[in-house]
Amino acid sequence: MAEFKTVRGMRDFLPEEARLLRHVEGRAREVARLYGYREIVTPVVESYELLSAKAGEEVKSRMFLFKDLGGRDVALRPEFTASVARLVATTLRNEPRPFRLFSVGSIYRYDEPQRGRYREFWQTNYELMGSSRPEADAEILLLTHSFMQTAGLKKFALKVGHIGVLRGILTQEKLVDKVQSAVMQLMDKKQYEDAFRLVKSAGVSETCILTLRKLVELKGSNVLDVVDRVAELVRDYEKSVEASRNWGGILDLVLKSRCDVDMTVDAGFARGLEYYTGMIFEVYVPGLDIALGGGGRYDRLIELFGGDPTPAVGVAHGVDRIMLALQEQKAAQKAEEKAGEEEKTVLVVPINEGLRGQALRVSEVLRNAGVVVEVEVMGRKMVKALEDADKRKMSYAVIIGERELKEGAVVVRNLAKRVQSTVKIEDVADVVKG
Ligand code: AMP
Repeated sequence: MAEFKTVRGMRDFLPEEARLLRHVEGRAREVARLYGYREIVTPVVESYELLSAKAGEEVKSRMFLFKDLGGRDVALRPEFTASVARLVATTLRNEPRPFRLFSVGSIYRYDEPQRGRYREFWQTNYELMGSSRPEADAEILLLTHSFMQTAGLKKFALKVGHIGVLRGILTQEKLVDKVQSAVMQLMDKKQYEDAFRLVKSAGVSETCILTLRKLVELKGSNVLDVVDRVAELVRDYEKSVEASRNWGGILDLVLKSRCDVDMTVDAGFARGLEYYTGMIFEVYVPGLDIALGGGGRYDRLIELFGGDPTPAVGVAHGVDRIMLALQEQKAAQKAEEKAGEEEKTVLVVPINEGLRGQALRVSEVLRNAGVVVEVEVMGRKMVKALEDADKRKMSYAVIIGERELKEGAVVVRNLAKRVQSTVKIEDVADVVKG
């Protein structure tokens, strides 16, 4: 028989990686709690119609799409936002605004596998519904900053753009939505020349192309300054000026929060997902040229799914890439230690077969007191069992012997110090917890 392997693009998380994954997830959940985002759990499988409604060609072409046995066209979710928008357009329709939702789970895209790019990956997702105000956008930026920080990343920066500036120009130049989206997707991949050619072929003026050329050059970390220059450049496009004002307003609020967020702005920055309408952003760390997270404002999606008009802004963080960056910045170990890896572990070994039941009983007593206990299940001689526990860096062995049991006690052996003493069963937990 052939040797079984994981399917291309899919990975196993062995204990150390799984622990890091859960650590990052735990930090995300804590951030959700602190910012008032309530967790929801939505299905991995959704209807293709829903997922494809506003996903953009790129994402659409990469879905794990299939017919279920009932003949329905379904797909594995390539993002959370469509599921959340579906809920908000239906079940949560009458929920008082604003409301904040958090999700975490696996996401599926038929991407070309490479470092930091998989076909099954993990996201933490935050959506803020019901506010079109810049403080809502600022909140999403700030919670992203806070999450990256508490996850343990030392250095990271947010790249912030505004889709409204480009859209404003393209709309005033009368480009239809479909062409606009195609232009954005080319820009997302930094294929600016192709994007300009496409705009040109739609019959716009030379001055418009020139403005676009200048626009994509405007970027930098002096964020308010750059946005002012953008506003000046696009002064003939009313909607673009409005968008620049909104963009500047959001950045100003983030600066005023005094959270020391490392931000750059980039006027030529676009994102692949079609539904964005305003501020967009991505998170980067030095040395990794793939984004650790991304999000933005999408004011029309809920309506598109049949709900009441609901402005919204959200973000998805790529957990796998955060893990990668933590490993890269050598911060993984610290993060894991924080995740409780220092925990004391105990092996419970009966001295003979007749005491196996007693070993289970004492183990339960210890676990009920919060101690991590493994019970000897290999029937090994005491010396072998202790050797193994030592090798695996366990902290204590609890040895169950007849003589001690008669006194309601066991032998507790400190494996590192190689010393042991007889301890009453009710006191064992205190002893091993130190
Ligand atoms: P998006 O929904 O495309 O904005 O993606 C949000 C985040 O998910 C990105 O910034 C990445 O961190 C992560 N991500 C997207 N695609 C992949 C992938 N194929 N493998 C791992 N992480 C991904």
